[in-house]
Amino acid sequence: MQINHSRPFSFEFYPPKTEEGVANLQVVLSQLATRNPDFFSVTFGAGGSTRDKTFSTVMDIQAKGYAAAPHLSCVASTKENIRAILSDYQQQGIHKIVALRGDMPSGTLSAGEFRYANELVQFIRDETGSHFDIHVAAYPEVHPQAANANDDFKNFKRKVDAGANAAITQYFYNAESYFHFVDKCLQNGLDIPIVPGIMPITQYTQLFRFSEMCGADIPRWMRKRLESYGDDRVAVQAFGLEVVVKLCQQLLDNGAPGLHFYTMNQAGPTLAILDQLSL
Ligand code: FAD
Repeated sequence: MQINHSRPFSFEFYPPKTEEGVANLQVVLSQLATRNPDFFSVTFGAGGSTRDKTFSTVMDIQAKGYAAAPHLSCVASTKENIRAILSDYQQQGIHKIVALRGDMPSGTLSAGEFRYANELVQFIRDETGSHFDIHVAAYPEVHPQAANANDDFKNFKRKVDAGANAAITQYFYNAESYFHFVDKCLQNGLDIPIVPGIMPITQYTQLFRFSEMCGADIPRWMRKRLESYGDDRVAVQAFGLEVVVKLCQQLLDNGAPGLHFYTMNQAGPTLAILDQLSL
């Protein structure tokens, strides 16, 4: 099946920690690159914990001729640090960045010079003008630390008002939450692309744990089905594929501007979804 190229899609990696991980990512990158994504993004550990590894992974992707977008989180960072990182990327010809607050690393005492992502977006604009195309995070199911959904939406708007060009959502399995969020954006005059973040399902204990932390809802019927497969990974993956393909199809059929895949540095699950999408 062919993906409709008027709807861009992108792939997210985390920077590998080991040589084996680096070698694996080379293979994954070349497999995913065959699908002509709009860009590959690379996460950034809060507090700068992966600063060098994020940078080298981004440079490696770019050196192979693909567009790369580093993530940059500002929590526990100074302006000087962020300025230096932006300058490095500017010099290397990087034009797209995913700007985030990040979560405070445990044991960190100081929150640094930025409190929220809107301050980072503003700082990037103040320092670098229109050089970067800035993506920010959006939470159709509401960020777990938000006081309430309305405040969370207002806080999202702050990021757009500060100069974000597009948003990538936290993953979700309930398409209605996404459509509702997009409608709310339009009602409030926010017409930037809101790209759904897609998490392939390959196993469930880690997915349940991670979803708990980041506030992504696994609908009860999905949870029950996944639990019932126990250790049968093949059944989990087959079910996960069916659910996520239907989700992507529904999103694209109803106007999602593209898809962003949380690949977890694996090509297979994302390729299986792309293969089954009929557009
Ligand atoms: P913010 O937009 O700052 O929001 C954080 C919370 O603060 C929300 O509850 C919001 O309602 C509230 N808030 C925001 N602004 C204000 C304000 N002015 N006043 C009061 N409250 C406010 N984490 C990483 O560490 N590295 C990554 O590479 C990374 N990549 C990600 C990519 C995507 C697409 C997504 C969706 C998330 C990613 N994360 C990453 C996780 C992200 O850092 C966490 O979800 C974090 O808790 C919030 O980041 P944010 O940029 O959305 O923060």
